[in-house]
Amino acid sequence: MTLSNLVPANAEMIGRAAELIRKGLLVAMPTETVYGLAANAYDDRAVARIYTAKGRPSFNPLISHVSGKDMAMELVEFNAWAHRLADSFWPGPLTMILPKAKDCPLSQLALAGLNTPSVRCPDHPIALALIEACGVPLVAPSANLSNTVSPTTPAAVFESLGDKVDLILSAGKTEVGVESTIVDLSGEYVTVLRPGAITVEMLEDVLETKVYYKNPATDNSPTAPGQLKRHYATQTPLRLNAVDVKKGEALLAFGRITFMASEEYGAAKDMPEGTVLNLSLIGDLEEAASNLFSYLNALDKVKAMSIAVMPIPNTGVGVAINDRLTRAAAPKEQ
Ligand code: AMP
Ligand code: MG
Repeated sequence: MTLSNLVPANAEMIGRAAELIRKGLLVAMPTETVYGLAANAYDDRAVARIYTAKGRPSFNPLISHVSGKDMAMELVEFNAWAHRLADSFWPGPLTMILPKAKDCPLSQLALAGLNTPSVRCPDHPIALALIEACGVPLVAPSANLSNTVSPTTPAAVFESLGDKVDLILSAGKTEVGVESTIVDLSGEYVTVLRPGAITVEMLEDVLETKVYYKNPATDNSPTAPGQLKRHYATQTPLRLNAVDVKKGEALLAFGRITFMASEEYGAAKDMPEGTVLNLSLIGDLEEAASNLFSYLNALDKVKAMSIAVMPIPNTGVGVAINDRLTRAAAPKEQ
């Protein structure tokens, strides 16, 4: 195993990463949400490499990461909603779906046949510096194999993709920890297709209009390819909203566990080290979101019979956490 593709995200390495991207190669970059597998959004062959590296179904469109509104407006037609949201939340964890701009240079493959690309300006100095250095938007899905937990650390990227990625810009653990909110502004109504750190309430406050939430667990219409029911899966099954721990289970906790029972050990607090991880001892949802994927990965390695997951309040970024957990827990499809 070679670790030579894992490098610190300093100015020299950002320059090297930009060179690789200009040649059509793949670079894993940190963003404030999760690590992204970045490629030139104009280059069909580079985009094809992303699908191959991730083993991703090719009907799944990719988000273009831009350095700001100007770059975004070369790709999509901004409407009044888009201006307001970009002014309020960019750079930040908000992806907007809008009608394609005239002469939009995006790779057809990245669009997966849609006329409505998605754009986002990430709030991370390394991601922004890399986009600037490349001078083109970067498509950057999460830097992991399709259908596995998104990576929040450079080590998780390496474990998932190994040398399928040409360079990993390493800059520690990501801050937000769940992927961006995706909001569809291309239709008559504003609809959130994927919940994230920017909540429906925050969008409504800025837009002063009703924002709908399309829950993939209950809504089967396939307007958003990739809103697959089962996604972000662990190998170990998840048991959600657990109020106790069964024999052979690991525990993903949230908040205090002093009074939680364990079939095997009496109390959950007496379970062996490594089989219990607490998303946030003090019950802080943002802390929980930032730990979610790395803790799911760590508990997956315990090879427990299942992972009991304590209830997470469905408010704020808790909606996004529950969305990811529900999809990770969905039964395998054929
Ligand atoms: P990832 O980049 O891995 O966080 O995943 C991106 C998600 O956004 C996938 O579920 C895509 O299907 C979805 N997505 C990206 N672009 C679009 C788009 N233009 N329209 C609808 N969904 C999109
Ligand atoms: Mg992903």
